[in-house]
Amino acid sequence: MSEAAVQSAASFDVAALRAQFPALQQEVNGQPLVYLDNAATTHKPQRVIDAISDFYRLDNSNVHRGAHTLSDRATLAFEAARQKVAALLNAAETAEIIWTRGTTEAINLVASSYGRRVLRAGDRVLVSAMEHHSNIVPWQLVAQECGAEVVAIPVSAEGELDMAAFRSLLDERVKIVAVGHVSNALGSVNPIQEIIDLGHQAGAKVLIDGAQGVPHFSVDVQALGCDFYAFSGHKMYGPTGMGALYGRRELLEQMPPYHGGGEMIKTVSFAGTTFNDLPFKFEAGTPNIAGAIGLGAAVDFLQSLDRKAAAVHEAALLAYTHEKAANFSGLTRVGRAKQIAGAFSFLLEGSHPADLGMLLDQQGIAVRTGDHCAQPIMKQFGIPGTARASFALYNTFDDVDRLFAGLEKAKTFLM
Ligand code: PLP
Repeated sequence: MSEAAVQSAASFDVAALRAQFPALQQEVNGQPLVYLDNAATTHKPQRVIDAISDFYRLDNSNVHRGAHTLSDRATLAFEAARQKVAALLNAAETAEIIWTRGTTEAINLVASSYGRRVLRAGDRVLVSAMEHHSNIVPWQLVAQECGAEVVAIPVSAEGELDMAAFRSLLDERVKIVAVGHVSNALGSVNPIQEIIDLGHQAGAKVLIDGAQGVPHFSVDVQALGCDFYAFSGHKMYGPTGMGALYGRRELLEQMPPYHGGGEMIKTVSFAGTTFNDLPFKFEAGTPNIAGAIGLGAAVDFLQSLDRKAAAVHEAALLAYTHEKAANFSGLTRVGRAKQIAGAFSFLLEGSHPADLGMLLDQQGIAVRTGDHCAQPIMKQFGIPGTARASFALYNTFDDVDRLFAGLEKAKTFLM
């Protein structure tokens, strides 16, 4: 183990952290579980599970209906969770946080509402070539309708955004830049501050897909100055089907509603309907109340940690993984950006990633295999997919050792 890894192991109490996660305590296929599929979804600490279960056991009621005590309690908890998310991202105000089902819905909301309003024939939306499909397809759907074009910012063989190419693509046709904070397929950390600044200088609005950003970094949307930031709760220790969109008030005010229904209106008549204030204008129908409360509990969990120490621990895990990978014959890393977080994508000579995933699973080791919903970058690299080990703050150096021992064993089956 490297010196950095030893130091981080000493200063971060991973054992105490792991004890908070019931799912990590189990055996899978006769072995203690090694869970390395955190970029897909993380496990949930007991406090998140309790918050959701307490809501259904005690407070279950619809929100913003104010007719009785339970409804008041549900509303208070639901809106308190929104405040927690606003504080997590350092939004200027709570009304700039819109509940969504996750990153995918958040991006679809911006594409459908903001994109459809501003895009005209000949305009461009820039996304990177390493984006998740959820930061490509929503733009394509809207661009097609408006006669606009979705253009990919090139990515180098190392998996880094080509910033020179980005600069040269920025002209008056570009109305929106939408880029991931961290690539789920390669782990590359994009220089989002520079991207936001350059995008703004060119007169574009900038959306950051933070699905893989929030779990690993403290995010300050005001300091970044981004226009939109989208993330999913389930990748940061919260429940599935719950996430949020941060949007600057000025833009959210200009945007038409995304869905119509109850809650998003002030008055409805056949002569015309008036819309509710932010954030409710974008939240038609009964929301995922338990999900929001669970996400609030996940924010509490994150805020209770020394996030700097957590980041050092995660970086040390990745460095240790790379060290081991460099000495593992037949293994090729996919994505070698200088700044990496969360994910380690790789290929093993003579094996299909799907077979490798199965052989690891038989040893109780969970990794993800496939194209990671990032087909364009896989196509650029000329591969159908990779195996990906992805880390959360509860992973250990022992998990990494188990992964490589598992790969060694898998090799004997593959020969
Ligand atoms: N963007 C990135 C970078 C992701 O990794 C993911 C999920 O893997 C998404 C978007 C979509 O997230 P969700 O499925 O939670 O909406």
